[in-house]
Amino acid sequence: MENCIFCKIIKGELPSHKVYEDENTLAFLDIRPNNPGHTLVVPKDHFENIYTTPDETLARTILSAKKVAVAIKNSLDADGINIGMNNEEAAGQVIFHTHIHIIPRYKTDGFKHWPQKEYKEGEAETIAEKIKNELGE
Ligand code: AMP
Ligand code: ZN
Repeated sequence: MENCIFCKIIKGELPSHKVYEDENTLAFLDIRPNNPGHTLVVPKDHFENIYTTPDETLARTILSAKKVAVAIKNSLDADGINIGMNNEEAAGQVIFHTHIHIIPRYKTDGFKHWPQKEYKEGEAETIAEKIKNELGE
């Protein structure tokens, strides 16, 4: 994709701090980390998000993410690791090339998890039914 920042990084047209590369995937430091060592893992082929990324490509990307996550944990003495993926603008995606965030976490980093909600009476059953129907379950 012509104007995709991550495609440019993959092609070497933009600089990055690469930490891992194999035939199908690349991992490099996020330019504005939540914590130092925050890394992005991307497939080398351009897909916009999880919905359009082929299963095999996605599988290879998460396997690279696992490898990098273990390396981050061990090398940076992380107490934990968040692995996440933003899909579509409403979910905070700003770069429309499939990528997995790997964020080292520390007991002292002060980050809070997202606020949680309560289900109203009967709502969980309705919601679960909708999702199951869509899945043909
Ligand atoms: P997302 O919100 O999931 O689309 O995340 C995109 C991420 O890409 C953000 O965390 C940015 O800090 C990061 N980012 C943007 N441009 C670059 C770049 N040139 N090199 C490394 N990371 C970048
Ligand atoms: Zn791209």
